[in-house]
Amino acid sequence: MIIDLSPIFNGKCGNERYVDSFNLQVSYIEHVGALSCSPVEVTANIGKVGDDICIDCNYRCEMTFICSRCVEDVLFPISEKFEIKLSGEELEDLKDSNILDKQMLNMDLLISDELIEHLPSKVLCAQTCKGLCTECGKNLNVGGCDCEIDNIDPRFKILEGLFSE
Ligand SMILES: [Zn+2]
Ligand SMILES: [Zn+2]
Repeated sequence: MIIDLSPIFNGKCGNERYVDSFNLQVSYIEHVGALSCSPVEVTANIGKVGDDICIDCNYRCEMTFICSRCVEDVLFPISEKFEIKLSGEELEDLKDSNILDKQMLNMDLLISDELIEHLPSKVLCAQTCKGLCTECGKNLNVGGCDCEIDNIDPRFKILEGLFSE
């Protein structure tokens, strides 16, 4: 969603409300380590507060990640809001990152940029996830495997041998 802010910059209109959705770029989804993402639903209010233009934005989507222990799919719902002022340092940052090009605001880029701060570096299906068996690869959340019994450190096996003699 590209929003032309010139009517607001020119003072021709006060507050505007935008409701839209967009799809994150495939390369972005890969970059954040997700499998897929639902369309991002956006509601934004843009208007003047004093001399500054303010953007008040809510967005939500649902990303699918892979559990880093058992590699099962994990749904990760995201619902966030942020507020920025188009002035000072924030305005310069938006121009530097091409989110604001002259008076055209690239909402998709703005949200992609904001969203990344809310994404986990590591996702687990549950804190108690047992992961996969390192021997046979079975998902241990589903049930145990026979390898577990034999899970003795080889160094102890030598000791075991000594004692049995
Ligand atoms: Zn898991
Ligand atoms: Zn096993």
